[in-house]
Amino acid sequence: MSGSAAAGRPGKRGMSVATAFAGMRSVTPVVFRAGCPDCRGRFELAASALRLAIGASSRTTFYSFTCPGCGAAVRKPAGERIVALLTGGGVRTLRLHSTL
Ligand SMILES: [Zn+2]
Repeated sequence: MSGSAAAGRPGKRGMSVATAFAGMRSVTPVVFRAGCPDCRGRFELAASALRLAIGASSRTTFYSFTCPGCGAAVRKPAGERIVALLTGGGVRTLRLHSTL
């Protein structure tokens, strides 16, 4: 598991910023790509725009956000990889069930 680029990387527009701060990688903003099932828009959301809820099983683990396009409350299932990406990216996490 090295060099994974699965996390929503900033697009090419963000690359110039990332390059400018090449020595300060920790400040590179983390952006997640998410699609809205209502308006079918695709958006880049900052970690602060997302919420992650971790349930007792993968079926009750999901992330949610408010669509910046149509305002719908979107909720999507989150697998282990997504959970790892979101938590690693600083997304607020709510544990619905203590599993540990
Ligand atoms: Zn929408």
